[in-house]
Amino acid sequence: MTAPVPEEFLRRFARAERVVAFTGAGVSAESGVPTFRGAEGIWKKFKPEELATMSAFLRSPELVWEWYSHRKRIIAEIEPNPGHHALARFEHLFPHFALITQNIDNLHRRSGSRTVYELHGNIERNYCVKCGAPFSNAVVLRASGVPRCDRCGGTVRPDVVWFGESLPEEQWDLSLRAAQSAEVFLSIGTSGVVYPAASLPLQAKRSGAYLVEINPEPTPLTDVADLFLQGRSGEILPALLEGVERIRSAESRGME
Ligand SMILES: [Zn+2]
Repeated sequence: MTAPVPEEFLRRFARAERVVAFTGAGVSAESGVPTFRGAEGIWKKFKPEELATMSAFLRSPELVWEWYSHRKRIIAEIEPNPGHHALARFEHLFPHFALITQNIDNLHRRSGSRTVYELHGNIERNYCVKCGAPFSNAVVLRASGVPRCDRCGGTVRPDVVWFGESLPEEQWDLSLRAAQSAEVFLSIGTSGVVYPAASLPLQAKRSGAYLVEINPEPTPLTDVADLFLQGRSGEILPALLEGVERIRSAESRGME
């Protein structure tokens, strides 16, 4: 059961000029994106920590590519949910809005969000490890075996952050800056335990943001949050959107 959003928060939210939404795996899970952990078929034998690393890629690029082709094909079939669509609308409702995501599935962009800081990369992009040239999924999925760069012959890899790699610097800097200037910071569907990304809600709060957590279950962040909205993001985010639009239209009619 999803509890109603407190009216007092909706008023604060409707007035805010600087809003940040920070999303994690829970938002994708509501669309049916699998965690690829202990799941299906031959991939049961592997842990992501054993495949999503540069050393695995250097040792057995065929195996790593087989795994990513499988994941790319599954994700390509998945659709954004009402939570993604509400976040895409937020971008037009607030003068300064940033969406920071730990998800690699591209569902935010596919649902229409434009300002998206991707802390862990994007599985629908790829690049040559030698010259950096970008390659689309359409191109790499056509290749048999390990895709090669047609400019320099280098190996192409998915544009995702692997275990042991640091976050993309520019995306991180932009995220941190947005968090530190946010009036309202929404932490959505994230367990709050994968650092450094998990420090963003704390940075925002320390800089004066009103911190809201949206999650089906409490997390380590719940005690720190100013407001905990318990439930599915696919229900709560559309309710926030509706609340803001209702309050703003009442104000513009002079009824408030
Ligand atoms: Zn190249």
